[in-house]
Amino acid sequence: MLEGIERETAEHKGGRGEPGERAPAAGAVRHDWTVEQAVALHDLPLFELIDRARSVHRAFHGEHEVQLCTLLSVKTGGCPEDCAYCPQSSHYETEVGAERMLDVGAVLAAAERARGGGSTRFCMGAAWREVKDGPAFERVLDMVRGVKALGLEACCTLGMLTDDQARRLKEAGLDAYNHNLDTSRKAYKSIVSTRTYDERLVTLRNVRRAGITVCSGGIIGMGESIADRCEMLVELARLEPQPESVPINALVRSPGTPLESLPPVDPIEFVRMIAVARLMMPRAMVRLSAGRTELSREAQLLCMYAGANSIFYGDKLLTTPNPGPDEDRALIEKAGLQPMAPAAAHAARR
Ligand code: SF4
Repeated sequence: MLEGIERETAEHKGGRGEPGERAPAAGAVRHDWTVEQAVALHDLPLFELIDRARSVHRAFHGEHEVQLCTLLSVKTGGCPEDCAYCPQSSHYETEVGAERMLDVGAVLAAAERARGGGSTRFCMGAAWREVKDGPAFERVLDMVRGVKALGLEACCTLGMLTDDQARRLKEAGLDAYNHNLDTSRKAYKSIVSTRTYDERLVTLRNVRRAGITVCSGGIIGMGESIADRCEMLVELARLEPQPESVPINALVRSPGTPLESLPPVDPIEFVRMIAVARLMMPRAMVRLSAGRTELSREAQLLCMYAGANSIFYGDKLLTTPNPGPDEDRALIEKAGLQPMAPAAAHAARR
């Protein structure tokens, strides 16, 4: 199934990681990471890990810049998939019901508001297993055209995607497509049963082949081990080219989902995950994503210091809570950070 996919499996290869030998030199992007090496980085003394991640971050990105992104659900709820973390799945009794798809005008009005608030990237999400050709997809293409006409980076997350659908999204002007690996290949089976890890990778391949940039990351706090977290990062880092965008989420424990009673993620573990992602994927925009409402302002800033250079901006992330725009503006100002212009976000990836 994976023939032709430009990746290697994230097997436990190589010797035991020796963290002192593993920090990438500034300028180097490696695709040969092993899980042992990633775990060795993850388990470094915290300040050493952060120091290393910060120096890679400074080599590749503006140290005071943060990109603001807005994520809007254009088709909420009623999803046939069974992702154990997701309140939009029709498999679980949650407070999120199935809604009609938004019309193009409503989405573009939201995009304009997002732009007015400083967002430079606008992501549209639909609770679909996969994209189906027809009126709903045509509407998404119109949304993408409209968002591009506003001068924003356009991103979509619509589920699985064929080669042809990816090509049509590219023609409409889409910059990026989000499709998260979520977790390690091994842990994935206990989180989602309605599709496979390899299907995720096929969609990422289709996106890349169409010339759309790849946004792919995962969620921590779903009961996985540190090795699982690192294995997911290795899967991503081994993609050639690496994803341009890597969202790191902490589980939002939504009532009614199978994961609702899990303990919250320790903020220090969030920082470590961000730092390892930065070290392994130096050019990527590392996005501090869901779960920020459970992080103190100081923990969020530590994540940014360790390599996160983007946050999602707005009251909601699809259907889950997010700090309000006022709170985020105050945080950015207090820390002397600068919202990133779209051109700067592109430049950082070169
Ligand atoms: S994460 Fe996406 S695919 Fe999974 S249930 Fe939620 S909306 Fe559906």
